[in-house]
Amino acid sequence: MPVSGKSRSPRFDRYDLIIIGSGAGGGTLAMALADTGARILILERGDFVPSEPENWDPEQVWKFLRYRTTDRWLDETGAAFQPYTHYNVGGNTKFWGSVLYRLRRDDFGEVQHADGVSPAWPISYDTLEPYYERAEQMYQVHGEVGHDPTEGARNPFPQAPIAHAAGMSAIVERLRGMGLHPSPLPLGLIEPGSDGGCVLCNTCNSFPCRLGKKSDAEMCAVRPATAFDNVELLTKAYARRLITDAAGRKVEAVEVEHDGEVKTLHAPLIVSSCGAVHSAALLLRSATDVHPNGLANSSDLVGRRYMAHLATMMQGFHPLRMNHDLFQKTVAINDFYFAGPDTPFPLGQIQSQGRTHGVMAQIVVPWIPLWAYQAWVARGVDWLAMSEDLPSPDNRVTVERDGRIRLTYAPNNERAHRELVRRFTRVLRDLGFWKVMAYSHRTRNTTHQCGTLVFGTDPKTSVLDPFCRTHDIDNLFVVDASFFPSSAAVNPGLTIVAQALRVAEHIRVNHLR
Ligand SMILES: Cc1cc2nc3c(=O)[nH]c(=O)nc-3n(C[C@H](O)[C@H](O)[C@H](O)COP(=O)(O)OP(=O)(O)OC[C@H]3O[C@@H](n4cnc5c(N)ncnc54)[C@H](O)[C@@H]3O)c2cc1C
Repeated sequence: MPVSGKSRSPRFDRYDLIIIGSGAGGGTLAMALADTGARILILERGDFVPSEPENWDPEQVWKFLRYRTTDRWLDETGAAFQPYTHYNVGGNTKFWGSVLYRLRRDDFGEVQHADGVSPAWPISYDTLEPYYERAEQMYQVHGEVGHDPTEGARNPFPQAPIAHAAGMSAIVERLRGMGLHPSPLPLGLIEPGSDGGCVLCNTCNSFPCRLGKKSDAEMCAVRPATAFDNVELLTKAYARRLITDAAGRKVEAVEVEHDGEVKTLHAPLIVSSCGAVHSAALLLRSATDVHPNGLANSSDLVGRRYMAHLATMMQGFHPLRMNHDLFQKTVAINDFYFAGPDTPFPLGQIQSQGRTHGVMAQIVVPWIPLWAYQAWVARGVDWLAMSEDLPSPDNRVTVERDGRIRLTYAPNNERAHRELVRRFTRVLRDLGFWKVMAYSHRTRNTTHQCGTLVFGTDPKTSVLDPFCRTHDIDNLFVVDASFFPSSAAVNPGLTIVAQALRVAEHIRVNHLR
């Protein structure tokens, strides 16, 4: 499918607005401002993910990591690792599971956890709610109100919930029998079950959709935005640094590597939407004499407070029970979200997951033959246990002298997560599974990265203001996962999209007139 606004080289060297990054934040913002007529340039370091048979090939996606970056980042010990992230049009949303949750109302306030405090946000649920509504419409979210014990009053979802497959349906009944409150997972899928729509396959989470029927930022935002003449997309365009004026109060241009050349592109308004790690890295790389520690860093918080959730993949296995469900990712269990049965502190969330493929399991222990794994996973039901990690100034992104990214991260709030996994292991055993497996990518899991440029009202304790404009630089916004003051324990995507819509409205009224 051709994209109308895609350029081989920038049409101009001056725009009204330059957005760096085309993922959940940047893509959504571009779409929300497309009808202003402003001359908008989206810079994206990656290219389009091609539609090809390999999209749904577990070996290509999981063994050969066909779509992942080949970048190597350093961890806190200096060891290099390949981060779980992707550079392409639509950003990481091309690979997301499309579980599109609102944060719970209480997540916006201060929440006491077993191992510390999850801080309050500078905006309330009520402030973001109208944008959550728009975000759910834009990303076609399916769900049903009235099942989730953590959900307050709200309008119905724009789309009906995805029906549970037969096996999952039986599990849901058993869970209810145990006194739990399983609820439909809110999912962004395009016309599931209808002719030419989403086919509810077993290659959704972590795979790109070959049919283009997952609600990702390319489909829901970038393509419709670039249908407007005034919106231009430049792929394979890497923003190296931001160039400020002599006083250091304004960004004047973006220095971009494209087609083997370094170009300087100007705009009176710049939005960084590179994702939580790369937006922080871009500001740090853009240090000048006026801003020796990086742009917008008078608080010394740029890159700090990195969070990414504590996540464990779990599987219930029974040798005599084949799992015939193709699409099993339809259930959430939020009974332990605010407190556990034996603790007043939050534990987190359980979601059913996309099916594990034999190749995915083999990566963990490679010497066991593939056929054995395939027989195993055919009898397994997959889940994800997810808990909040808390912001710490020592968990941070820095940039080495040679430009490499260093991610220093020590997980916290682990007691809560261990308890969640222990609790759910017991639930799976009560459901009759013979064996329960648990696996975590631990600190290498960068998929839910957030928090590196926290928003707030006080420039001493935050980098961005409540509309995601940097306190220090008047014409610089950051619209991606960076702004989160806390990670909550639900998937971040819908909140990134909702805040992008809110910031877009602010920019439209105050900066693009
Ligand atoms: C496998 C997987 C499953 C996930 N599942 C879910 C889910 O079910 N629900 C959910 O809510 N979230 C999920 N997530 C997380 C979700 O995808 C991210 O939270 C979200 O995409 C972050 O949005 P963003 O705008 O911050 O960054 P991204 O979407 O990552 O976009 C950043 C973009 O900036 C580009 N970029 C970076 N640096 C530069 C530069 N210097 N110059 C130019 N371009 C640059 C990147 O190439 C990228 O396109 C998942 C993520 C992964 C990887």
